This record gives sequence, structure tokens and C-alpha cells, in this order.
Amino acid sequence: MTVVSKRILVTGGAGFLGSHLCEALLERGHDVLCVDNYFTGRRANVAHLLGHANFEVIRHDVTFPLYVEVDEIYNLACPASPVHYQHDPVQTTKTSVHGAINMLGLAKRLRAKILQASTSEVYGDPVVHPQTEDYWGNVNPIGFRSCYDEGKRCAETLFFDYHRQHDLRIKVARIFNTYGPRMHPDDGRVVSNFIMQALAGAPITIYGEGRQTRSFCFVSDMIDGLIRLMETPDDFTGPVNLGNPVEMTIRELAERIVSLTGSRSELVFRPLPTDDPVQRRPEISLARKVLGWEPDVTLERGLEATVAYFARLRAELGGDAHRALNGEAG
Ligand code: NAD
Ligand code: UDP
Repeated sequence: MTVVSKRILVTGGAGFLGSHLCEALLERGHDVLCVDNYFTGRRANVAHLLGHANFEVIRHDVTFPLYVEVDEIYNLACPASPVHYQHDPVQTTKTSVHGAINMLGLAKRLRAKILQASTSEVYGDPVVHPQTEDYWGNVNPIGFRSCYDEGKRCAETLFFDYHRQHDLRIKVARIFNTYGPRMHPDDGRVVSNFIMQALAGAPITIYGEGRQTRSFCFVSDMIDGLIRLMETPDDFTGPVNLGNPVEMTIRELAERIVSLTGSRSELVFRPLPTDDPVQRRPEISLARKVLGWEPDVTLERGLEATVAYFARLRAELGGDAHRALNGEAG
């Protein structure tokens, strides 16, 4: 199959998902422009791509307008972990909302196709289980998670209004918990926390009793899903759930990681954060039908690759991965 080379903008391109996406798009022969303000992303995530003739990086905050020429936009810019997005909640909402307005405005001027990295958080603490795309969610508008949840919900609204009002070609992916190499070791997310703790032989911090559930998708599956979504016919907008439907409790995840790493870490229980969703599992029939997509990487294989990444990072940074990486944050 011949691939037509396109000029593609990836906002948040130096982050965890963004860096893998840039890599995958370059491999497919496209010109990739990565835009990032390095709030949670790292230059090191894309350093290996800098010599590539079709790759370019711009340091830029998407809450300000951007003037570039591209054919497609993947809008990923936004801190994703609760620790990071609650650090400066006003900036988080601005990034989602002003960032969406700026990127949609750019897409409108260029008549470019634009994909939004939305989230399972639009379902809040869901009372429908598993979550289907037609569920409107159960979201606290004034809580600690609201800057992220409501910011992402408003971004979805903007995407659909630009589509209806300006005939813009849009794609909305609702991404469920995704993990893998290049997650930030300090981002406070459960997979990175548990692996870093297990490798250090430190206590594994389970919030609450660990009976809340999540479903974890490996990064390569997610990137494949996002690219397939972008390539769907123009009349398909989504929203579409992307995630791995294998659901487990947080306690089970902790036990899997302890056993996989052969760690002697003990499990300790800490208070549950406010509004922490009790259950989460994607219903992915729509993605199966329209994208011909479903996750392929088992939790065991995905965790092995992620553990290997964090072990390397610890070795490279002399065990003090946290301090070294935080020093780099822009
Ligand atoms: P990440 O924090 O690693 O990446 C986000 C990137 O956006 C970082 O590189 C950060 O520096 C950049 N960024 C933040 N604010 C910016 C701004 N104002 N201007 C420019 N760049 C900015 O997180 P991730 O896990 O790679 O998430 C990427 C996207 O996917 C996010 O939009 C997130 O909401 C969405 N998502 C991720 C998950 C997941 O489990 N990883 C789940 C649901 C949704
Ligand atoms: N969690 C935990 N220990 C940790 C970090 C997270 O028990 O050290 C729990 C957290 O309370 C939540 C789940 O793991 O129930 C997933 O948390 P994460 O921050 O990764 O993502 P999200 O809550 O956004 O799904």
C-alpha cells in the first residue's frame, strides 16, 4: 500500500503518548511537527528523533495561538496524571479549553483534520458499567478532578460545535488508562508509582482498600488506535472509546507488579483521593467495528516492557530518577 506523506502536528508531542505517536507517524513516512511546552513532557522523549529529516520540534504553549501549515492535527497537549493536572488546575482548564480553541481555529484556517485526545474521565465516577460512548457521565463540576474532567468535556463540546458550525473534520478518542515506557516516573499514576516502588523495594502505596477497578492499555495498542481513528472516513467523528477492556482491581495490579519484579516490597494502604472513580472499563464494540481495532498486548507483556524501561532509567540516572527528571521539567 502506498502512503501519502502528510504534514502532521502533534501537540503534547514530547509527552508519554505524544512521543510514541510522533515516532509511529515518522515510521509511516509523514512529516511530523511536535509542539510542547515541556510541562510534563521531556526533551529526552524525542531526543532520538531529532536527527530525523522529517521531524521538527517547537517549544510552545497551546493556550497561545500557533501559526503553522499542516494537513492533520493530533491534539494531545494536556497533563494527564492527577498529580500533574491538579498542580495548577487553572492552567489545566486553560490548556484543554483555550488549547482546543486555538487548535480548532488553526484546523479551520487550514481545513485540516483534527483529532482530540479526550479521556474516560468524561464519564467521571460512572454509574453505567462498562462505559459506552452514549453514556453522558457522572462528573463533579467543582471537585479536585474537575479542572481535567470538565476541561476535557468542554473540549469535546468545542470539537462538535466546530464540526457542526464550520464543517470541520473532527475525530474524538476517549482514551482509557494507558501505560508503557516513557511514562514519567514521578507522575503519580498507578503503574509508574507501583513499578518505581517495587524496583526500589519501597512500600507499594494502595489508595483506599484497592478495590477500585481500572483497565490498562499498553501504549503501542493505543497509538495504533489513534492513527486508525484519524484515518477513518470523514463522516466518522467518534467519540470512540480506546482502551483495554481487561478490568482488575488496583490491589490485583499491585500484586502482579510485585510478583513480576520479584520485589520484596510490602503493600501499604493510604487514604483514597477525593472523587477517585470506583470502577472503569471501556466498552470497545464501536472501535472494533469502525476501526477494526482491539488491544493486542497482554498486561504481562506490557508490564514487562514497562518494568524494563524504568529499570534502565534508574540505572542511567543512578537510582535518583525522580530528582534528575524533575530538574528537567520546563
Ligand atoms: P503527558 O503528561 O505525558 O503528556 C502531555 C504533554 O502535553 C506533555 O508533553 C506536556 O508537556 C504537554 N503539555 C501540557 N500542557 C501544555 C501546553 N499548555 N502547551 C503545550 N504542551 C503542553 O500525558 P500523556 O499520558 O501522554 O497524555 C497525552 C494526552 O492523552 C493528554 O491529552 C491526556 O489527557 C490524554 N489521555 C491520556 C491517558 C493516559 O492514560 N495516558 C488517558 C486518557 C487521556
Ligand atoms: N492509585 C493507588 N496508588 C498509587 C497511585 C494510584 O492506589 O500510588 C490508585 C488511584 O487512587 C486510582 C487508580 O490507582 O484509583 C488509578 O490511578 P491513576 O492516577 O493512575 O489514574 P486515574 O485515577 O486517573 O484512573
